[in-house]
Amino acid sequence: MTLMVKKFGGSSVATPEKIMAVAQRVINDKRSEDKVVVVVSAMGDTTDHLVEMAKLMTNVTTGREMDMLLSTGEQVSIALLAMAFTKLGYPAISMTGFQAGVSTNTAFNKANITHIEPSRVLSELDKGKIVVVAGFQGMTEDGDITTLGRGGSDTTAVALAGAMKADVCEIYTDVDGVYSADPRAVSTAKRMKEITYNEMLEMARLGAVVMQPRSVEMGKRYGVPIHVRSTFSQQPGTIIREVYTVEEKEFVIRGVTHDTNVAKIAILGVPDSPGIAYKIFAALAKANIDVDMIVQSIRNVDKSIIDMVFTISKADVVEARAIAEKVGKELNILGVVIEENVAKVSVVGAGMFGSPGIAATMFGALSDAGINIEVISTSEISISCLIQANQAEDAVKVIHSRFFSDEA
Ligand code: ADP
Ligand code: ASP
Ligand code: MG
Repeated sequence: MTLMVKKFGGSSVATPEKIMAVAQRVINDKRSEDKVVVVVSAMGDTTDHLVEMAKLMTNVTTGREMDMLLSTGEQVSIALLAMAFTKLGYPAISMTGFQAGVSTNTAFNKANITHIEPSRVLSELDKGKIVVVAGFQGMTEDGDITTLGRGGSDTTAVALAGAMKADVCEIYTDVDGVYSADPRAVSTAKRMKEITYNEMLEMARLGAVVMQPRSVEMGKRYGVPIHVRSTFSQQPGTIIREVYTVEEKEFVIRGVTHDTNVAKIAILGVPDSPGIAYKIFAALAKANIDVDMIVQSIRNVDKSIIDMVFTISKADVVEARAIAEKVGKELNILGVVIEENVAKVSVVGAGMFGSPGIAATMFGALSDAGINIEVISTSEISISCLIQANQAEDAVKVIHSRFFSDEA
């Protein structure tokens, strides 16, 4: 017997026909003794449409009511998929995140899973049923519905696999694995047989939406190997695991990513004294706003004030502006400027540490393409540049061609 968790993303269940095809595929691949949990996302662009509807009501598309709304998408697909299994002659039961035992903290819209109690899932499996679980959602101690951040069904799947000690965790999607760049942007991108948790986590954090970053973190924490593969083919995809086993080559650069879901925020004329950065970033942290690429620069004219520039996710712009303006008022700053037409391009690879010249190669590629770099940041395994959003795809292409030979 193999205990499997299989997750199917939005494009895999975009229509009733596709839902039926998913049910058929799961059944075809299943041996009679296998126990299968299927985690699903909302159909197609449902979550985007729900967000658009909320925007017609208010410009504050955050908080409890937002999660009440967003969680409905997955509830539609679990019910339809359970019906599809039953129709094909396989007993199945659908479960919301709560019914599957997914508990979270109270950070609405980007909640963290705190605990999973999978006893109901396990007992339905024991009864011979296929269990269909709603991805992306959980519940707080107080009984409020939460969601796990965009792409959060990946995290539901990996966390469930960890909690149930599943033998297999498969993420089925519309590409056949993890590539050295988004295959939609770079046609010569290369598919990987394997990638380590650390490198995948960094790629995901820097824009490779194929896996939600938190799902990779969960996989690492619970030692769950994750198989990313295509819904539409039988070919094996990419395994995310702790260390490489198949490809022995030492990789310097593993991938190039881009992220257009970023905004640049500049807090201008901040007093240059101890505790100020703390004040600003503590206020943002309290609101669960992730901050990246922080740069502090001295003004030529007035040396007693500085400008503070950093990036945030576009989804946090309204809240971050309100916080920055409020704290800014207390500090008597000159102003807050937010720019949304920016993108982050990054190179990722555990081998780059101690390998000089990576940054120069990347900056050289951007320079030759006439692309201006606005902000630079680095980690041990990545280098990121902030550029104009309309140049993002060109940037990924030129950087990718410098690090990877372009023949397929
Ligand atoms: P799902 O709905 O199945 O969760 P997503 O849209 O969230 O699918 O993720 C799959 C998409 O991720 C692909 O269609 C691809 O365009 C994008 N993607 C971005 N970077 C990468 C990468 N490095 N490798 C593979 N896919 C990537
Ligand atoms: N439906 C959610 C989203 O679109 C979660 C997911 O697809 O993983 O972000
Ligand atoms: Mg996804």
